[in-house]
Parts: sequence; C-alpha cells; structure tokens
Amino acid sequence: ILLPLGMAIAALLVGVVVWMSRRRLSPLGELTRAVRHREFVVHYQPLMELKSGICVGAEALVRWRRPDGTMVRPDLFIPLAEESRLILPITDQVIDAVIAELGPTLVADRSLHIAINFSADDIKTGRMLPLLEEKLRAAGIKPQQIWLEATERGFLDIEAARATMAKARAMGHSVAIDDFGTGYSSLQYLQDLPLDALKIDKSFIDTIGRGSATSSVTPHIISMAKTLGLFSVAEGIETQEQADSLIAQGVEFGQGWLYGKPVPAAAFAAFHAQNKATKGSAPEIMRASP
Ligand code: C2E
Ligand code: MG
Ligand code: MG
Ligand code: MG
Repeated sequence: ILLPLGMAIAALLVGVVVWMSRRRLSPLGELTRAVRHREFVVHYQPLMELKSGICVGAEALVRWRRPDGTMVRPDLFIPLAEESRLILPITDQVIDAVIAELGPTLVADRSLHIAINFSADDIKTGRMLPLLEEKLRAAGIKPQQIWLEATERGFLDIEAARATMAKARAMGHSVAIDDFGTGYSSLQYLQDLPLDALKIDKSFIDTIGRGSATSSVTPHIISMAKTLGLFSVAEGIETQEQADSLIAQGVEFGQGWLYGKPVPAAAFAAFHAQNKATKGSAPEIMRASP
C-alpha cells in the first residue's frame, strides 16, 4: 500500500512543479519582460502608388514574438502598451528594427519610404524625434524617407500634436493621420494641423462596390483630402475593383492584401526589387506641401 501512495505523492509534486513553472506573469508583467528582452519583430507591408503600380515603400507593423514562438498581433498588446506607457520603448525598438533591417536598402534607394506608427504618447511628448534624427543620421537615411503615422487619438492634445508634427515636418518627415474617419474627426484640426496625408480607414474601402450607406462617404473623404492639399492613402485594398475605383477617384497611394501582406524585411526587400525591375522607380520625395 506504501508504493502507490509514494507514487501518488511524487506525481503530485511533479504536477505542482510543472504548474508553478507554467504559471504566467500578469499581462503587464509579460509585456514588461518582452520590452526588456526585445521580443518584438517588425513586418513590412508594401505601400503602392496606385496608378503606376510602383511600390514606394512599406508600413512598419510590429508583432510580439513570444518565447514559445507564437506571434501576437499588435491590436492585442498595443492598447496595454499605451496604457502602461511601455509603448515608448516599443516605438524605439520599432525604429531600431527599421534601421537595422532596411537601412542599407533605404540608403541604396532614396525613392523608398517607410511609414512608422506613432502612438498618442509619442506624439504628445515628441520625445522620439531627436532620437530618430540621430539614428537616421548615423545610418545615412534621409528623414524624407521616413513617414510618421498617428491616429486621431494622437491629436486630442492638439497643441502638443501641432508642435510635434511641425517639428517632424521641419526635419523632413511626412506626417499622416491613420485610420482616418474612425475617430473623433473634428474637421477643425484637419485645417489646423501641419499634415501631408490622410490614410482612409479600411472600413471605408470595404464598402466600395457594395452600394451601402457608408460607401457614399468615401468620395467625400477623398475630395476633402484634395481640398486640403493632402495626399490620400487607402488602407486594406483587397480587390481589383476597389483599386480601380480608388484610382478613378484620384487616390494616390494604397496598401492591402491585393498588393501584399505584411512580411519580414528580407521578403519585402525582394518584393520591392522585383517591383522596381518591372515598374521602375517612384519619385524621390512625396510631400503635398513644402
Ligand atoms: P494600422 O496602422 O491601421 O495598420 C493597418 C492594419 O491593417 C495592419 O494590421 C495590416 O496588417 C492590416 N491590413 C492591411 N491591409 C489589409 C487588407 O487588405 N486586409 C485586411 N484584412 N487587413 C489589412 P496589423 O499589422 O495587425 O496592425 C494593427 C494596428 O496595430 C495598426 O493599424 C496600428 O494601429 C497598430 N500598430 C501596428 N504596429 C504598430 C507600431 O509599431 N506602433 C504603434 N503605436 N501601433 C502599431
Ligand atoms: Mg498605420
Ligand atoms: Mg491605419
Ligand atoms: Mg486601420
């Protein structure tokens, strides 16, 4: 009778040890560890000049690669990162990844651009600008090759946003409003902010060809961008029909699965080289206003 009892106790002990080793940190604890161990990877989605089909660059999109190899989508950890301000070091790591992975490609081809997403805190503090400037200079990348994107949440503190954006543009960057149309779109700030482009949210692109109520909004967003002298960039283009409609309406740039999903740097560089061989190069600097 002692043997089975001993085995049961041993099994229990093993169970406790396994349970303890698998016990998870809190989500915030895990994210803090991820920042410390630099567990983030960046994928790049091609940005196209729609009419010519030329690839003008890519948007840098962060992913969290956990120690067990699983990839976590940004919408699952960016909100927590923003609440906890861990987003600030994450932004730095994204900038570092862009420079490390695509720096030589950007130096070799001045017509190539990378769009980086900045969070509300980044825009509010503007703290990343001097770091970005220094890192780009050290790598020989022109500031004109880096576009900044921020959602409308970044503009709630309008004075701080204006200051950061004006500084970014003075340095040579282009600035875009991301997910345009989904936030607290006050038309006032559109007039007031120093901007280059509006990124039209995928939800509007989705409606093209569907004859739904919101599909009638999309042309107005496009013409508003034109009136304000801004480029428009369409997000989430999945069908040729959408692309054709956007081109017909004069939308300059776009991205979406129709052209390419976000991929690691090497795959993007190969895509770009292939596109360049068949379509040629883009104009060097794309900016709506001086
Ligand atoms: P976003 O900046 O609006 O990026 C576009 C999102 O749409 C990306 O999702 C992209 O993969 C997805 N997408 C692009 N084309 C298509 C398409 O044709 N079909 C569909 N179904 N989806 C498409 P992702 O990579 O999951 O990123 C989600 C959001 O996370 C981003 O939206 C951005 O707000 C945020 N994010 C990503 N990277 C960063 C970052 O480095 N910093 C910050 N602050 N936010 C980031
Ligand atoms: Mg974006
Ligand atoms: Mg977007
Ligand atoms: Mg979006």
